Amino acid sequence: MVNRKCPECGTEMKVIKEQFSIAWVCPKCGYGEATTTTEPIYDDDNIYSVILLENDSKDINIIKALSKFTGLNFLKTIDLINNPTIIYRGKAYELFEKKKELDNCNVNYRIEPQFPY
Ligand SMILES: [Zn+2]
Repeated sequence: MVNRKCPECGTEMKVIKEQFSIAWVCPKCGYGEATTTTEPIYDDDNIYSVILLENDSKDINIIKALSKFTGLNFLKTIDLINNPTIIYRGKAYELFEKKKELDNCNVNYRIEPQFPY
């Protein structure tokens, strides 16, 4: 969280963090601002689908990443790579974390609808 200066008097404001909000308060003049920490990704109720695209079924890194992602064993994962299908459905914030595993190993996939995060 960046430091902010009071727009009224230029004094550096104190940050007060709570579970669902952040407030800035100026210790000099008492000016205050509050914001919620709820980011749009947590409000997004869309269900996103991850669709596997063409991948190299001999690339052990891709097999490992997909096996971890799907929970399938290596043989079934290789089947999956040869017959790509939807491998995940979930909400934006879940997918945001999960997809890192795929991105780290350059797995080719597509998300529908378009994933804006
Ligand atoms: Zn102030």
